[in-house]
Amino acid sequence: MYSAVGIINRKRLGEALSRDEIEYFISGYTDGGIPDYQMSALLMAICINGMTSEETYNLTDVMLRSGDTLKLDTIPGCKLDKHSTGGIGDKTTLIIGPIAAALGIKTAKMSGRGLGATGGTIDKLDSIPGFSSALSMERFTEVLNDVGFTDCAQTLSLAPADKKIYALRDVTATVESIPLIASSIMSKKLAIETDGILIDVKCGSGAFMKDEASAEALAREMIGIGRSAGRRMTAVITDMNEPLGYTVGNSLEVLEAAALLRYFAGNEADTGLFPAEPDERLVRLVTELSVRLLMMSDSIASELTGDVREKHAHEEVERVLTSGEALSKFRAFVKAQGGDDAFIDDPSMMSVGAFTIDICADRDGYISSCDAERVGEVSMLLGAGRQTKDDEIDSGAGVVVHCHVGDSVKTGDRLMTLYTGKEDKLSGAAEAARGAYNISGDRPCVGDIINLVVED
Ligand code: URA
Repeated sequence: MYSAVGIINRKRLGEALSRDEIEYFISGYTDGGIPDYQMSALLMAICINGMTSEETYNLTDVMLRSGDTLKLDTIPGCKLDKHSTGGIGDKTTLIIGPIAAALGIKTAKMSGRGLGATGGTIDKLDSIPGFSSALSMERFTEVLNDVGFTDCAQTLSLAPADKKIYALRDVTATVESIPLIASSIMSKKLAIETDGILIDVKCGSGAFMKDEASAEALAREMIGIGRSAGRRMTAVITDMNEPLGYTVGNSLEVLEAAALLRYFAGNEADTGLFPAEPDERLVRLVTELSVRLLMMSDSIASELTGDVREKHAHEEVERVLTSGEALSKFRAFVKAQGGDDAFIDDPSMMSVGAFTIDICADRDGYISSCDAERVGEVSMLLGAGRQTKDDEIDSGAGVVVHCHVGDSVKTGDRLMTLYTGKEDKLSGAAEAARGAYNISGDRPCVGDIINLVVED
């Protein structure tokens, strides 16, 4: 017979736990038989001593089996999921979902809300007037079948063990552990029975993984778990040392995603907030991730291999962007989930904070860094994110980032514009924003946003 104390002690000594021990502990905690303080002790022992890949897989599988799974076998075609480990200004799902749908890939996503500096896709989508992210399982599969892309909020019934454990990790300094992050993400991803999962592992100051070695270790752990569960897996490690694109904040990011799709469809709309021409790094990222999804899918001829396959995938992604098919899928997705798509043609229909302040360069030079995490915190201070899980979101709050690393600036040029619906939030946020940029006399080297592609 197992005991919670015995299991904690074994992990404290750095020993590997058996599947039965993991099952005993996780089900005991989920049912309420094992208290928070014992779970906290085990989590801390895992943080310090790690887990083998077998333990991590077993932990994932036990958390997955603590709840329901969503079967998609009645839906024809290849079903894939795309997940990002979380970054600042990461609106890629809103662009990649429609691109993939236009390519004939069914993208089934359940997304989270933001907590702390990192935004959540559901908060972004909920800023669209009328949009509903609370879909029943029936409606989820209907939209997936009809449009090819659906995204809804995580339901309580999927991986409930992870939900309870994640809340505890958040308040016990046990979030940053590769086996805990990998099992937490993968237990939720595997609960939706897709054919494959593409993971965008963010790496840098605005991400959980601060260096490339840890990001690669996390990517390999998640790939191993997915493969053991019979899924096709690809991970892409991408840079998150500066915010992604021009915007951080919910309505602002939706507007940027729509503007990018419109731009490629030859149908520019001036938002008056950021340039009509999309941010190059964002374009590079969404293109690469869409190419990877296509290469994982059945929508590309199997006889194409190697570079020819990759080149064809690039051409296909470009084709659905420029033909407007991806933009049409975006409209269909918004409408299918109850949203008013009028903001796509008329960006002024999306509300953006009425109180603004510009943060300007205090010297001439080149932007040598822009602290992504700090910009995320500024956006949260403006009202775009939550400090506690019950905080209300101001969907029009956020930041427009005018300059990126490598840009040359003159004293007085705008670096960022802050937006909020509550005037009293401006001065504290502006103070935090002032330290986000470094300007130096030398032009820095700007690396590719794609650090590494890790395949099966
Ligand atoms: N996202 C999750 O779902 N879990 C983690 O542990 C970290 C990020």
